[in-house]
Amino acid sequence: MANPHLSKILVASHNDGKISEIRDLCGPLGVEVTSAKELGLPEPEETGDTFELNAATKALAAARASGLIALSDDSGLVVDALDGAPGVYTADWATLPDGSRSFEVAMQKVEDALQARGAVGDAQRTGRFVSVLCLATPEGETCFYRGEVSGVLVWPPRGSLGFGYDPVFRPDGHSLTFGEMPAEEKHGWKPGQATALSHRARAFKLFAEQRLGVPTP
Ligand code: IMP
Repeated sequence: MANPHLSKILVASHNDGKISEIRDLCGPLGVEVTSAKELGLPEPEETGDTFELNAATKALAAARASGLIALSDDSGLVVDALDGAPGVYTADWATLPDGSRSFEVAMQKVEDALQARGAVGDAQRTGRFVSVLCLATPEGETCFYRGEVSGVLVWPPRGSLGFGYDPVFRPDGHSLTFGEMPAEEKHGWKPGQATALSHRARAFKLFAEQRLGVPTP
């Protein structure tokens, strides 16, 4: 992909939680963020069985519809005791019969599935969040950046910060769930810093270093 200076990025998402996190991460880099939601672009159907395929679908659709360089995030929760579920179907587990979404229901489904497998101790309740960012041009070029964070699924949910499944995910090495962490702590990264915490911040750190020219510490 050619390397024009990126002063503005179209975030190919309608998910307020993701848009807000990417906006936070872009802030210190002086990159302006707009979103597919704000521009009223249609949401493409996600039919892929990998995070990469779905990320590419979203970024290419937004880039082609807008003529702008677009950045998508396809992400999800991969639970070891559930053979990797809900994985690429993480958002679908929250979908109710009327088409709306409830993450209380989704977190309960994960818990019920863990209980059904007898997963009661931390060692049996391991998993990870995965984020694949795809940068796409209107001409159809793509670049991918992947981040993962390992942790434990806790019950009951803890904290009201963040979004989605944050209240049931405690990253390894931390006592708080993502739902109990302010955004800066969940990202655990700012430009020039060697480490990041969340899956999205880890993927974004690669994007910032490899594409935006932020120096690698
Ligand atoms: P998709 O990438 O639009 O298919 O949806 C991914 C789903 O994974 C989101 O709807 C969230 O429920 C969940 N998810 C992804 N990242 C996070 C996160 O950082 N915290 C909590 N839930 C997340």
